[in-house]
Amino acid sequence: MKVDVLIIGAGAAGLMCAITAGQRGRDVLVVDHANKVGKKILMSGGGRCNFTNLGVTPGCYLSANPHFAKSALARYTPWDFIAMVEKHRIAYHEKELGQLFCDESSKLIVRMLMDECAQAGVRVEANCGVDRVRKTDEGFSVHTARGEVHAQSLVVATGGLSIPSMGATGLGYELARQFGHNVLPTRAGLAPLTLSGKHQERYEDLAGVALPMVEARVGKRSFRAGMLFTHRGISGPAILQISSYWQPGDDLRIDLLPDMDAGAWLQAQRGSRPAAELKNVLADALPRRLAQRLCELWFDSRPMRQYREAELAAIGGQLHDWPIVASGTEGYRTAEVTLGGVDTDGLSSSTMQSKLTPGLFFIGEVVDVTGWLGGYNFQWAWASGHAAGEVV
Ligand SMILES: Cc1cc2nc3c(=O)[nH]c(=O)nc-3n(C[C@H](O)[C@H](O)[C@H](O)COP(=O)(O)OP(=O)(O)OC[C@H]3O[C@@H](n4cnc5c(N)ncnc54)[C@H](O)[C@@H]3O)c2cc1C
Repeated sequence: MKVDVLIIGAGAAGLMCAITAGQRGRDVLVVDHANKVGKKILMSGGGRCNFTNLGVTPGCYLSANPHFAKSALARYTPWDFIAMVEKHRIAYHEKELGQLFCDESSKLIVRMLMDECAQAGVRVEANCGVDRVRKTDEGFSVHTARGEVHAQSLVVATGGLSIPSMGATGLGYELARQFGHNVLPTRAGLAPLTLSGKHQERYEDLAGVALPMVEARVGKRSFRAGMLFTHRGISGPAILQISSYWQPGDDLRIDLLPDMDAGAWLQAQRGSRPAAELKNVLADALPRRLAQRLCELWFDSRPMRQYREAELAAIGGQLHDWPIVASGTEGYRTAEVTLGGVDTDGLSSSTMQSKLTPGLFFIGEVVDVTGWLGGYNFQWAWASGHAAGEVV
């Protein structure tokens, strides 16, 4: 079979690239080894797909080259995707911090993309694995489960390694290496952190305890959002965000009360409730079980009148700068994204085309561009897919 464009991977980036290229009149085939297309879209955002973020800027992405994402993001903005969502009359809402979710189901986003593909004359084949790619004089020859496909342009949109049970494979990285590209080391991002040994024992029975707002910090990077204790460690949006910046051995600090001056608050409590025990006072600002545990581990718990001013100031300081020793992340099994990947040095930032092999493109998560939690990763998938789709 001969086509103009073969796209490997019918996920967010691959389908957007297919739509853009199909609308230009290109003959496009998308193949995916999974039994259903857009599986990650379906499971995203708790089934409601956080499809973009109104606050997207290049600074919301991790990459060895922080400038790489600028061009594609500028040329396909959240508003471009919102226009498509509105054209298909999909109801959506802003949850928080510019995060846009479907009101009903992420199935509607997959249906929208498939309808757009059909209108643009794009063929999409699920259950169609790929096992060999060769460069030919005319382009590429790709051995698929449906036979040999000859294509002028080949787009690799195979995503990252997270959630292998959803169809993630390392094919994209293998193809990159096959064509001489550098692949930067990959690791799980937006993943819960694990604790081990005594650090785990201290907190494991707090599993299920949630804090609505903390500030998690690694070096100069910090995120304010919720946090949750799990059986294995800590999770919640603030932890998922900081996990992308944390590496084993890094110092992780949590401000447990980022919206108040804890020292001053404790002094005031000592004045107004001198007989109250510290653990009960802290339980007004923190979950009770955590307040109790912090007292057992660090502060001891006496009536407030027995604490000197300097002691309360020190306790306040510790609440704003609580060290937690993580041992790792939960890994690809639960990670939302894969950090690292195809080195952007080998790609054009305006088209995603290989600088080494004309006609070869890498888009979406397989590339070393990883967004924060909150719709940023889909926006990169749409934007990079669109950038390639305009030229394939
Ligand atoms: C649980 C979860 C929830 C998420 N929620 C959100 C969210 O709400 N908002 C957000 O912005 N991001 C979210 N993400 C991240 C987002 O899903 C990804 O960043 C995005 O899907 C990447 O798009 P992609 O097209 O590059 O890759 P994918 O969407 O992963 O698509 C890659 C496709 O390639 C196919 N493929 C892989 N290997 C092969 C092979 N060997 N042969 C053929 N086909 C292959 C796969 O089957 C898959 O269909 C979430 C991720 C997870 C895991």
